[in-house]
Amino acid sequence: MSQHESKCPVKVTRLKLHEFYYSDDPKTQMCSKCHPCKLGIYDAIKILEIVQAGKGGEVHASLLRRIARDVKDGSMCKKGKDHADILSAFLDASGAELEKHIRGYCSSNECAQLVTYDIDPTLCTMCDKCREACPSFAIEGQKIEPYKTGFTPYRIRQKRCTHCGDCLPVCPEGAIFIVADPGPDADEKKPERHAVGTCPV
Ligand code: SF4
Ligand code: SF4
Ligand code: SF4
Repeated sequence: MSQHESKCPVKVTRLKLHEFYYSDDPKTQMCSKCHPCKLGIYDAIKILEIVQAGKGGEVHASLLRRIARDVKDGSMCKKGKDHADILSAFLDASGAELEKHIRGYCSSNECAQLVTYDIDPTLCTMCDKCREACPSFAIEGQKIEPYKTGFTPYRIRQKRCTHCGDCLPVCPEGAIFIVADPGPDADEKKPERHAVGTCPV
């Protein structure tokens, strides 16, 4: 998805800076003549990549702010200053979205590593299809079997999940959903065992 199609301001800003930094077009490329522009734009791209990968921290927001100021002050030409302005405009207009990304959530679900999947136990019929489809063995659960005294509801182990999304389309019940905001305790759920009766023999 290009920057023109994306609705995620973190992604759009990273793509704009990336295009400037790596452009082959002499008219639009960053020429590397002055360090604040060269180093600052590179660092901003790397920080935004870290944030999109779900590894962002509070420090990154302030680092981006400082980079925007340094690039603006230290750039020798309009191209550098314009891209400092792009970064500043993003921080001013989309600071809340940047914070959400740092908490692990992308509003437009475009940053794959920030999309959290979960299972609605009220819809899950324990068919096992999602567990079979998961390439990372991140789904656990136990079908109800006539010879067993209980079952373990299906759940996604968030720390194992690689956010590939393969489980979403295979669920025939629509029980797998994208979590609106994972919050700080997303991985705190423990598996529960539910009794359904006792063994008759
Ligand atoms: S500010 Fe201008 S001159 Fe300096 S590195 Fe960037 S593009 Fe080149
Ligand atoms: S998103 Fe991918 S890794 Fe995560 S539970 Fe679903 S299939 Fe497994
Ligand atoms: S595919 Fe859907 S219904 Fe089947 S076990 Fe997984 S979540 Fe439950």
